[in-house]
Amino acid sequence: MIAQIRPVLVTTVPAQPEPGVLYVSVEYATTLHLCACGCGHEVVLGISPHDWTLNWDGETVSLDHSVGNWSFPCQSHYCIRRNRIVRAGPWTDEQITRGRARDAAFRRGNPTPAVPDVPSAPSGSWLLRWLRRLPHR
Ligand SMILES: [Zn+2]
Repeated sequence: MIAQIRPVLVTTVPAQPEPGVLYVSVEYATTLHLCACGCGHEVVLGISPHDWTLNWDGETVSLDHSVGNWSFPCQSHYCIRRNRIVRAGPWTDEQITRGRARDAAFRRGNPTPAVPDVPSAPSGSWLLRWLRRLPHR
């Protein structure tokens, strides 16, 4: 498990995402980082009131709510608080169920409310390119 992550603003997909970096696209309201456990899976998180909310004070970044990689073999679960990775407890069945429901809703594009002042791109080709690059399971 890595201890720290730092935010980097991007507009295009990094060809080789680095561990310990949270890539943030304001344009697409999306973030990508490599799983903090070190397994190398790419974690793509949408930023919206119904997905994750991102707080960036210019130096440190916090994500609300926790990141749960229940679909990865590692099943890692952690929070990002002011650039620190804080390990969270194991997923309960209920959390996994809710996470799956939220994920499915996101993929259906419903609901994907726009964040004020940030253009939403639920079908952004940039996000789709990222999703296609995820390892096939
Ligand atoms: Zn992992």
